Amino acid sequence: MAESNVRVRFAPSPTGPLHIGGVRTALYNYLFARQHGGKLIFRIEDTDSNRFVPGAEEYILDSFKWLGITFDEGVSFGGEHGPYRQSERREIYKKYVNQLLEAGKAYIAFDTPEELEAKRNEIQNFQYDAHTRQQMRNSLTMQKEEVDKLIEDGLQYVVRFKIEPGEEIHVNDMIRGDVCIKSDILDDKVLYKSADELPTYHLANIVDDHLMEISHVIRGEEWLPSAPLHVLLYRAFGWEDSMPRFAHLPLLLKPEGKGKLSKRDGDRLGFPVFPMEWHDPKTGEVSSGYRESGYFPEAVVNFLALLGWNPGTEQELFTLEELVKAFDITKCSKSGAKFDYQKGIWFNHEYILRKSDEEIAQLFAPIVANNGIEATMDQIRQVVHMMKDRVSFVKELWDLCSFFFIAPTTYDGKTVKKRWKEYSAQQMTELADVLEGIDDFSVEGQEPVVMKWVEDKGYKLGDIMNAFRLTLVGIGKGPGMFDISAFLGKEETLRRMHKAIEVLG
Ligand code: GLU
Repeated sequence: MAESNVRVRFAPSPTGPLHIGGVRTALYNYLFARQHGGKLIFRIEDTDSNRFVPGAEEYILDSFKWLGITFDEGVSFGGEHGPYRQSERREIYKKYVNQLLEAGKAYIAFDTPEELEAKRNEIQNFQYDAHTRQQMRNSLTMQKEEVDKLIEDGLQYVVRFKIEPGEEIHVNDMIRGDVCIKSDILDDKVLYKSADELPTYHLANIVDDHLMEISHVIRGEEWLPSAPLHVLLYRAFGWEDSMPRFAHLPLLLKPEGKGKLSKRDGDRLGFPVFPMEWHDPKTGEVSSGYRESGYFPEAVVNFLALLGWNPGTEQELFTLEELVKAFDITKCSKSGAKFDYQKGIWFNHEYILRKSDEEIAQLFAPIVANNGIEATMDQIRQVVHMMKDRVSFVKELWDLCSFFFIAPTTYDGKTVKKRWKEYSAQQMTELADVLEGIDDFSVEGQEPVVMKWVEDKGYKLGDIMNAFRLTLVGIGKGPGMFDISAFLGKEETLRRMHKAIEVLG
């Protein structure tokens, strides 16, 4: 296949918010399309009207906009293979259902849910297939006239795929290699329902992949069991020659233990499983999202890219462009990828470090303002510069940085006990005098003067710095002391020192 003919698709069903695993699927499709100079198509698979959730489609599109994953064709993007919403393609599917019926590769079945239930009770592990279809009410067991009459009378029916037993079906998977199953284990899947005049997922999926000239189907492992049926459908239509290559991605597993990652794991351990916050239109329930939790889209993309694939080197930090170059679908793992959400937090921290102080300051400024502080952008930038290496999220900055803007009124008891000696008040009074005499209050201006004073006096540097910190910060933590005093300026520094001396004595 020529590289430029690569056409892949992301085809969600709008049944709710997009799960983080779906985001990874879309990302891998995106990387694959971009690295081959191909096209990425956004298709909405909404033939199951019972599961339709309003707002889901918009949510999915907004999520990708936020993440920077772009599409070339599809719902909301346009293109020559539309419409891209399956509910708008009814007539197209009907034509293909008829094609299978006429070729004898599918048949009409009238069995009611009750009749099917009765059969299930009668036969253990009942499956509608070559062994049982002769006992059922379908166009294989009834006269053509009778079938036509029932349809004319408006009786509801389904169209089932007639799967021939005794065949070996090979799915050539780019990740898993040759996956072979016997057709006997498959049932005669429903392809179409007269009740809503819509095809089921399987038929619509295959017809659309064909008509949209999809070259590679990259999707979650949960669709692997459907793949043999899909191969058979391609054959039944006579489309083997243009059958896409498959790649079934590894499952995302719980952070600990076995099993598939679920929303409940996220609730239990406190991490989002959705890209953005989701407000359930029915229940009103709100589920947290990566965006609202303060993750950078780049961090989420980087984190997800490495869940199920790795470059085979030590490199962990990748821009989207770097991922496009490095990604290799054939190097994806076959076994599930543990969803290590702590690693996601680590990625966000790394991205904070890599972003400019200016960019982080822009995000931090509204938080500062919300806390009733009037600060200049320059001050905020300075604080960010001193503190950003200590946090994983911008929202964590305030707790660590509020002392820059708000003088302490209380002093941490433990620190006082440990750091405020009987001579500290005296030493701090002297230090305040020394600082008073410094004109250049920058770090470079203060440091040598204070150091010399400590040395001349024969004081212990630790005693001085610990007490100094307590007076300015109120606790025993923070960045370098002269960074703090330089930021505060002489006046505020001295004010805080005198206050502490007064309170702590
Ligand atoms: N509509 C399916 C989904 O929701 C698409 C599966 C596929 O990619 O074939 O994931």
